[in-house]
Amino acid sequence: MSTRLADNVALVRQRISSAASRCGRTPEDIRLLAVSKTVGAEAVREAFGAGITDFAENRMQEAAEKMAALHDLPIKWHFIGHLQTNKAKAAVKAGFELIHSIDSDRLLFELDRQAEKTGRPQRALIEVNVGGEESKHGVAKEAFMKLLEESKKIKSIKIEGLMAIPPFFEDPEYARPFFRRLRALRDEAQRAGYSLPELSMGMSHDFEMAIEEGATIIRLGTILFGERKK
Ligand SMILES: *Cc1c(COP(=O)(O)O)cnc(C)c1O
Repeated sequence: MSTRLADNVALVRQRISSAASRCGRTPEDIRLLAVSKTVGAEAVREAFGAGITDFAENRMQEAAEKMAALHDLPIKWHFIGHLQTNKAKAAVKAGFELIHSIDSDRLLFELDRQAEKTGRPQRALIEVNVGGEESKHGVAKEAFMKLLEESKKIKSIKIEGLMAIPPFFEDPEYARPFFRRLRALRDEAQRAGYSLPELSMGMSHDFEMAIEEGATIIRLGTILFGERKK
């Protein structure tokens, strides 16, 4: 089991390197997040031992439990799930490295209010629903700029980029236009004067394509830990 996880990490690192060199990038520019939702604390500990420093959770309760169980390790925790406004306080208190999923002005303002109380700025990304899918969270492409403008009014949330989960395709090549769309939105916002270096995009089945399209953060679960049971 241990060796398998270490092998998976090594293989993924190799594939990140190859994808990066194919498009003239360096692997150091791509941050690997291990998505540990549904995975037990011991497997997270093992993955940390295999050199992974960043882990991502998608539910507050589960995240809080794992963060407590693993507080002895210097892990950088990320929040990648839908965040209800009433969980904003807990999310800010938890001390996530990055919250990837701001998808409304209500959530933005509430996170800001909570972060201001702690006196510690919170880094975050705006999640964009690039496929316009009803089943997915994230702001519509059209609403993105407006949300970004709102972010000028606040002080304690630092918006550093964009996140997206494109529609699922058997053939990841079909996901490429959605990655491009996210990057184009980011570039447009940068031309308007915002600084948004981070693009959080790419999962187990399409991360190489995301890297080719400019991902700076990839979020991998299955390929590292195996199929999830729930
Ligand atoms: C579960 C999840 C992932 C990881 O998906 P895999 O296909 O297992 O790599 C990435 N991002 C988000 C937002 C997720 O919820």
